[in-house]
Amino acid sequence: MIYSIVKLGDPVLEKPAQPITDFDDELKKLVADMFESMYAAHGVGLAAPQIGISKRVAVVDVTFKDDPRAKLVLINPEIIHKEGRQRGSEGCLSIPEFREEVTRAKSVTVRAQDLTGKLFEHTGEDLLARAFLHETDHLNGKLYISHISALKRDLIKRKIKKLAKAGEW
Ligand SMILES: [Zn+2]
Repeated sequence: MIYSIVKLGDPVLEKPAQPITDFDDELKKLVADMFESMYAAHGVGLAAPQIGISKRVAVVDVTFKDDPRAKLVLINPEIIHKEGRQRGSEGCLSIPEFREEVTRAKSVTVRAQDLTGKLFEHTGEDLLARAFLHETDHLNGKLYISHISALKRDLIKRKIKKLAKAGEW
C-alpha cells in the first residue's frame, strides 16, 4: 500500500516518535508499505512519521532499487558514532521542491534493530551517512532545515506559507 507523504506543517513531523516493542506481522507490513511509498515518491529514505505514523521505523535505499543489499530497515535506530565532515545538497520528501546545502558527518555508525528485533550496527559513508542522520533526525521530530541558517529556514517557511495559501502545499 502506498501512503501519501506528510508535508512540513503537519505536527507529526515535529514530535519524537514512539519506540517499537512488537516485532510482529504488522511491523513487517508497515516496513513493506514504507519501501513501496518511498520508491513511489522517488526517495532514498523514509521515516514512519512522514506517512503520519509516529513510530521509530525508517527505511533507506541509497541505490534506489539498484542493489537489493542496500535496502536497510532501521528500527529504533540510534547514531552511535560520527566522524569527518561532508557538505552537500539535501532534500526531504516532506519538503518537496526545496534543497539546501547541509553539513553532516562523513562517516556514521547507526545501531538499530531489524524486523526480528535483533540488534545490529551499520557504518555508512557519504550519502548513506547523510541518510542515517536525516532519518534518525525524523524520528526525533527534527527536519534537515534545522541544520541550515535561520534566515534560509524562514525563507523556506515563508514560501511554503504562500504555497499553502494558494492551495499548492
Ligand atoms: Zn526527510
